[in-house]
This record gives sequence, C-alpha cells and structure tokens, in this order.
Amino acid sequence: MSNHYNDLWNNVLEVLRAQYDDELYNDTFLPCNQLYKFDKNTFYVRVPTEFHKARIEQFYIKRIIENIQKVTGHNYDVKFVTDEYIKNDETIPISEPDPQFLKLYRGNLKATYSFDNYVVGPSNRLAYMLSLQIAERPGLVANPLYIFGGVGLGKTHLMQAIGNFALDNNPQTRVLYVKTEKFIEDFVQIVVREKKDLEFKTKYRDIDILLIDDIQFLAGKERSQLEFFKIFEELHNMNKQIVITSDRPALELKDMMDRLTSRFEWGMQADIKYPDFNTRLDILKKKMASERMDFESIPPEIVEYIATKFSTNIRKLEGALKRVLFYATMNNEEYSIELAKEALASILPENNVENNFEISNIQRVVAEYYRVPVEMLSSKSRKKEFVYPRQIAMYLTRTLTNHSFPKIGKDFGNRDHTTVMHAIDKINKHLEFDVNLKKDIDKLIKKLK
Ligand code: ADP
Ligand code: MG
Repeated sequence: MSNHYNDLWNNVLEVLRAQYDDELYNDTFLPCNQLYKFDKNTFYVRVPTEFHKARIEQFYIKRIIENIQKVTGHNYDVKFVTDEYIKNDETIPISEPDPQFLKLYRGNLKATYSFDNYVVGPSNRLAYMLSLQIAERPGLVANPLYIFGGVGLGKTHLMQAIGNFALDNNPQTRVLYVKTEKFIEDFVQIVVREKKDLEFKTKYRDIDILLIDDIQFLAGKERSQLEFFKIFEELHNMNKQIVITSDRPALELKDMMDRLTSRFEWGMQADIKYPDFNTRLDILKKKMASERMDFESIPPEIVEYIATKFSTNIRKLEGALKRVLFYATMNNEEYSIELAKEALASILPENNVENNFEISNIQRVVAEYYRVPVEMLSSKSRKKEFVYPRQIAMYLTRTLTNHSFPKIGKDFGNRDHTTVMHAIDKINKHLEFDVNLKKDIDKLIKKLK
C-alpha cells in the first residue's frame, strides 16, 4: 500500500485519538489502522469483524468524514471492509500515482494557475463559472468549452486551473495541457517524420482532459487540422473533456476547416473581456498578497495609478506592479506617485498621455466613431441613435478610468449613478454575444491609447 494515503489515514486516526478518550480509541479506532486501498477518492479501511464495521458506521462515520476533510482538504469517502470483502475484491488495489505519471500529467501545468489565484469580475465571470463546473465534472457539463479573448486576459490561467483542480480532486485524472504550436510540432515530428503513430495516439488520446491553448495557430495547417479533428471526435465520443482557448470566436477563425469550427460550437463558448477598474485593483492586491508583501506600506494611490494606466492586458498590469516595486528597492526610495511614474515612464502603453482617458476625450472619440454630435452624449435625448453611443462611452469610461459611477453620471449630462450602472451592465451583456460590438470596442480602445 502506498505511503501517501497510508500517511493520510494515520493522520486521520491521530486526530481521532485526540478527540476520544483512550479506552474508546483503543477499542474502536486502533483496530482500523490498516488501510486496504485507496480507490476512486475512497479510503478502504480494514476492520476485524462485521460487528466492528457496523458499530463504526452507526456511531462514528460522520466524525471520521469530517476529519478526513480536515486532514486532506478533500471530500474523500471512507468504507470499512472485512477480510471477506478483501478476499472477493477483484480490483487491484490502487496506489498513489507513480512519479512518472505525475510528471506526465501534472508536469506541464503551472501550479499557481489555480482558481484560488484567479480574481473574478464582470469581465470573466461566465468563463470562470463554466470552467469551475467543468473541472468538477469533466466531460459532463459542456464539451468542448471554448474560451476566447484578447492577449493577457487570463485564458491560459483559467484553462490550467481546470487541469489543476481536476487533478487535485482525483489524482488519477490524466490531464494534457498543450499549446497549439506544440501540437503541430508533435504531429510533424512524431507522425509525419518518424511515423510513430502509436506514440502520438497514446499521448493525445489516452487522456481524460485535453487543454489546447491558442487554437487560432492551427490556421492554414490543413494536415494538423485533420489530425486534430480526428482526436476531437474520438475524445468527444468517449466523453473526455476538451477545453480550447482562442483569440476570437470559433466562427471567426480563419483558414480553418468548417467541420472543426462547427464542432467548437457544440459545447459552450465564453469570452473574457477587459477587466474593469475594480477587478484590476483586486488583481493587484491579490498579487501583492500572494507574494507576501506588506502592501500596507504601499500607498493606495500607486496601486490605483497602475490600475488606471494598464487596462487591457493583465500580464502588463502585473508587470507594471513588479517594476514599481523593484524600482523602489533598487533606488532605496520611499513609495510615491512620482516614483511610480518614473518607474513606468518607459513602458506606459504608447501615447498614453494621461489626457487621453479624460472623459471629454472618450466622448469625442466615441461620438466621431458613431458619427453623432458629441453634445448628444450628454443630452437628455432618448433616441436610439444617441443612447447606444452614450452607453458605450460610459462603458469605456468605466473600463479605462477610475471614475466613480456618480462622477460618470455627472459628466454625461447630470445623470443618476444607477443609470450609469444600468448602461454598463447592458453593454456587458451585449458583449456576451455581439461580436461586432466587441470589435467596435476594441477599435475605440485602440484609438484612445
Ligand atoms: P492569456 O492566456 O489570455 O494571454 P494568461 O492566462 O497568460 O493570459 O494571463 C496573463 C497573466 O495574468 C498571468 O500571469 C495570469 O496569472 C494573470 N491573470 C490573468 N487573469 C487573471 C485574473 N482574473 N486573476 C488573477 N490573475 C490573472
Ligand atoms: Mg495564453
């Protein structure tokens, strides 16, 4: 029997020892100190007699399960079995996964890409919820899950969180994370050049969860597409979970077989949008907390400054924070807003002079884009042709600046803050399915930068 689960079970017994008096412990629990096997998230513990088994199951099972949860952090189950059971048991006792297995299926996942480390906000809530459900019940919720969105917005992180979660839940899960470039390389190397079809087949089909990152790189690669199509079909037929990320919706993938893009639409699609100001702040705070930084000493203005300046790429947002911290340490200076500006001067998104994100400028650019007079964005008019650009301008203001809802309301014709919240909510909802709106927003952000 493997040491790992034995150790866990012994720890559970130790906790029980502390909870009950010696006599009871020695009579009841001590005879259960032999773990028969660990299988399908369940401890099978050997007990001397049927009578013993009945007594434990009647009086102590609840407490035992609570303690298992405490010791292992998982909701593992427990069964008590007699020698009679063991004699007739046809399953081979499963030990903990061997190191080779762990290397194969855990090795290419980054441990810090977990759900716990993922900040959830309006921009990514749907994608997050679906991912979590899929990680809990791979193959049963939505297959494939197709996550799309711009660079640095958290697609890879979320996808790997699914793998990490599924492996934590059941260490026997075979999870394969692969970048699309690597898949193509493997196909060319292993199948086309070396003709080792079996090796390739084993790698990509004998798995439970396939995480394939940045599928847009399959564009134009016909043979690789065909191969991927076959793998997709096979895994899908066996209810193995497939998760795909991409920089665009499935139907917009270029130079891609229709058969494939239509398969991508079978399950669920979720996009990740630009995080709003509060989400960006939360991400920075989480980052500081996870690095065990004493972030109390960093003035909130600095964190807010960074969150204001880096709004469209979370990797850059985090990079900016690191840079400021590093800069302060290196120059041995106190944290100040001047220092932050100095540290970031060379990496601020291009032309990002502070004025660009002024509300008046956002209004001007949006009005020009939709060819409406800029005054109409602050007018009381309820004509559709003005309402929509107005709501988009409000959305952009909220996304790109740190102005509060009341402040935005004031600058858009003295409107109530609930009107602003409603407008932003509406745009967020539309963004879920309206691909053209998403394109418009991207173009507008580019113009504003
Ligand atoms: P993408 O794959 O979309 O280009 P990544 O998943 O590589 O983006 O994310 C870029 C960086 O931002 C990573 O370090 C990731 O951990 C971090 N990140 C992205 N989204 C979040 C989030 N919601 N919460 C915390 N960190 C995030
Ligand atoms: Mg990525």
